[in-house]
Amino acid sequence: MKCAYHPDIETNLSCGKCGKPICPKCMVQTPVGARCPDCAKLAKLPTYRLAAKHYLIASGTALGMALATGLVWGVVREFLPYIYVNLLLAGGVGLAVGEVVGRSVNRKRGNRLALIGAVAIPLSYLAGTAFNMIFKYTTAFHPLDILAVAIGVFVAVIRLR
Ligand SMILES: [Zn+2]
Ligand SMILES: [Zn+2]
Repeated sequence: MKCAYHPDIETNLSCGKCGKPICPKCMVQTPVGARCPDCAKLAKLPTYRLAAKHYLIASGTALGMALATGLVWGVVREFLPYIYVNLLLAGGVGLAVGEVVGRSVNRKRGNRLALIGAVAIPLSYLAGTAFNMIFKYTTAFHPLDILAVAIGVFVAVIRLR
């Protein structure tokens, strides 16, 4: 048998779907076995579309969670303006964002998903700060707030990556 893509290469492999002879060079290993490049491409398309939809869902969920947790963050900070409370809250926000965003996409994981979750943490912090500014005359920025945001990002990322 000669490879359908490389007529000069002798092979005894064939595509598991269409039966076309393929060589190790053009064979694509998929979860359901060896495929020729054409069949592998066809199999990949729906997955890719699904992924795009998932990122959209994840982004929307992350934005909603950023606003919701930001509100909680702002309210708690209003009554308990202690930095260690803020650090704990940040971890909690990271946990909540990671959990809910993960659930919104059937617990899929990935770097881009982690990035979406990570961006939600500073957004949440800003939403909380905006809330504080609206309902109180001033919100003192504490340098450790940066650490708080970093903790939140870290927690969200390890739950989504
Ligand atoms: Zn094929
Ligand atoms: Zn080939």
